[in-house]
Amino acid sequence: MLLALALAIPLLLLADAFPPDPAFCDDSGDCFITNAYRTWNTRQVCRVSQIVYPSNEEELLEAVGYGAKNKLKMKAVTKSSHSLPPLACPGDGAAAGLLAISTANYSRGIAVDVASKAVEVDGGAQLQAVLDEAARHGLALAASPYWNGLSVAGILSTGSHGSSWSGKGGALHDHVLKLRMVVPSGKNFSSSSSHNEFAKIVTLTPGDGDLFYAAIVSLGTMGVISKVTLELEPMFKRLITNVGLEDKIVAFGNEHEFGDVIWYPSKREAVYRIDDRVLVDIPGDGVNDFIGFQPTLAPAIVAQRALEETLEATRSSIGKCSASQTQVSLLQSLGYGLKNTRSLGLFTGYPVVGFQHKIQTAGGCQDSASRLLICGWDSAKNALFYLESGITIPAQSIAAFIADVKHLRDSHPDAGALCGIDLYTGVLLRYVAASRALLGKPFDGVDVGLTYYRSRNGSVPRLNMDLWQEVEQMAISKYGGVPHWGKNTPVTFSNLGTGSSPVLERFVGAMRRMDPDGLFSSTWSDRLLGIQAFGTVMAAGCALEGLCICARDEHCAPEKSYYCRPGRVFTAARVCRYENA
Ligand SMILES: Cc1cc2nc3c(=O)[nH]c(=O)nc-3n(C[C@H](O)[C@H](O)[C@H](O)COP(=O)(O)OP(=O)(O)OC[C@H]3O[C@@H](n4cnc5c(N)ncnc54)[C@H](O)[C@@H]3O)c2cc1C
Repeated sequence: MLLALALAIPLLLLADAFPPDPAFCDDSGDCFITNAYRTWNTRQVCRVSQIVYPSNEEELLEAVGYGAKNKLKMKAVTKSSHSLPPLACPGDGAAAGLLAISTANYSRGIAVDVASKAVEVDGGAQLQAVLDEAARHGLALAASPYWNGLSVAGILSTGSHGSSWSGKGGALHDHVLKLRMVVPSGKNFSSSSSHNEFAKIVTLTPGDGDLFYAAIVSLGTMGVISKVTLELEPMFKRLITNVGLEDKIVAFGNEHEFGDVIWYPSKREAVYRIDDRVLVDIPGDGVNDFIGFQPTLAPAIVAQRALEETLEATRSSIGKCSASQTQVSLLQSLGYGLKNTRSLGLFTGYPVVGFQHKIQTAGGCQDSASRLLICGWDSAKNALFYLESGITIPAQSIAAFIADVKHLRDSHPDAGALCGIDLYTGVLLRYVAASRALLGKPFDGVDVGLTYYRSRNGSVPRLNMDLWQEVEQMAISKYGGVPHWGKNTPVTFSNLGTGSSPVLERFVGAMRRMDPDGLFSSTWSDRLLGIQAFGTVMAAGCALEGLCICARDEHCAPEKSYYCRPGRVFTAARVCRYENA
């Protein structure tokens, strides 16, 4: 018995293929592309006919050349595919003629040039590896998203960001000095030509104007990013203190270089993270091990999901309030995972001081070698399953938006209606600067990040879903917010391509110069760019997961007492609301 146990434990702890490759073929040879959650925001199945894994630029040239020669639709796919929308899917139907080019093996090149304070990296390089290598040379990257498991090219392609209005801002694409892309060469078909003649390498710098400013945030539509050169600066440290404050959101963004705000509307509490650069000789060796990104015991995550499902099924917002109260208190007592010293691995209180590359991102679960220790969103383990929205609201409107959300909270008959969001670290408010990237943010704004429960069954409504639907519609339609390309439900994007937009036209012009046959375009990207109509299908239940905005009750779930109703504060909104006659 003991021997059996002794043999079983190492097997359980055996390295798992985590994260599972989002590009995979099943036993019958059918191949698919999915994302880290194993479910796109559209719930579509993405089939491809082939997946290739180049590991250097020559192989990448060959892969794109092969696709271009055979007029295949292509997309780059990353090692773990963290975007919610099907951006990495080359088509939306049968697999034939669709090629996925995985960058999972194209990630090792990271070359720091100390003299010019720059780093050149392979497109598939993982963010933390880049930060660590720069730090080894005494250099730092000022801007990055918070999760370190992302690839550099994936971050760029969706305009992903951290939080900063200072300098060039907190979006990685605004720190790009040079890009090398592999794109179709435009050569006409000749059976005798080798693949490589059908693709070429293009180097772009700011001097290339629209081509460069389109390529740094391209939704993957212009070709495959082979190498990226990023601007670095001398290493610095960060000093972080969290304080509860209210009503000074814009001033705060101007005062603190890397500050952000976690807002718990139901608790009437906002946690302002005072976060500034300090000199490297200030004592401190802190790290950011944000708890949500650490390897976590699978049974604990599964239990958390089971509790959430029970609270949803029993319509218990009180239960959500008490669960989130416990969770938020625990997170706060642990400094959200900040640790004052790397060696001791403990949070002993604020301030926390640490080197930029140890503070700017967090992660770790992606490298877990045990199948018992997982990322919270590992759907293969029946773990958490959620939707995420990210909408950037112009700075001048953010105070009015927050006031409207408070009004909505206060006018809702269920006092605990907003508690569910606190189970996912509340409303995350981050500062995002205007960018010259054609698909970057057009204004200085505040990104409103929401993460909330999603049923595994797309026809099941969510508890108090009307509230967040109203908030999202208000953010877009009333306050002119713009969506994060890598997050959000489909309907959030539905008005982007409508009407004439000179910037979109410039982007599409640049895209067509790089890829005249549209081999890197897909139905999804064509819709985002206004090339195809968004084509919202007003089917039964379509509003439940944001495939449409409801116009009639049948678009919600009338059989479950969810009806299409106007918003309570933003009355132009149309939301699915529970009404028990
Ligand atoms: C846990 C988690 C935390 C997150 N934190 C943040 C955050 O702090 N801030 C933020 O802004 N966002 C955040 N996001 C969203 C995330 O940054 C984006 O979805 C990002 O695009 C994902 O990067 P990826 O490497 O997984 O790329 P993917 O999602 O795989 O790809 C995104 C797009 O990039 C294209 N692409 C990828 N590689 C290439 C290449 N070499 N050449 C051309 N095109 C390419 C793909 O085709 C696709 O169109 C987070 C997401 C998760 C899951």
